[in-house]
Amino acid sequence: MDITHIEHLGIAVKSFDEAIPFYENILGFKCYAIEEVAEQKVKTAFFKVGQTKIELLEATSDDSPIAKFIEKRGEGIHHMAYHVNGVAESLKELDAKGIRLIDKTPRKGAEGLDIAFVHPKAAFGVLTELCEKPE
Ligand code: ZN
Repeated sequence: MDITHIEHLGIAVKSFDEAIPFYENILGFKCYAIEEVAEQKVKTAFFKVGQTKIELLEATSDDSPIAKFIEKRGEGIHHMAYHVNGVAESLKELDAKGIRLIDKTPRKGAEGLDIAFVHPKAAFGVLTELCEKPE
């Protein structure tokens, strides 16, 4: 496994209209992209903090995983994403070690990244994402 840095933190919010002004006007970051990931029924809003990003997540439908997360646990940190060289290889390595995965193969996430999730039960309560920019 070759993790290089924390790529982003995913934060579930009820409303971009309410959350984005906090990140822009209070914390002083600039939202540089808003993108919908239809397959996941979420909208994402991105801020850069050094080489790490903050990814706000807003549900686009009541059956979105983000809507369910907020219903159960309230707004807050949803996942932690590590940038890794070789998502597919890393997944094979984890699978071989018996680590519970949500995705056994990479899929497309926001910003065109190849992403995959490790089950939070295997990562001490943290939904863990591996991601990398495809070549
Ligand atoms: Zn993410």
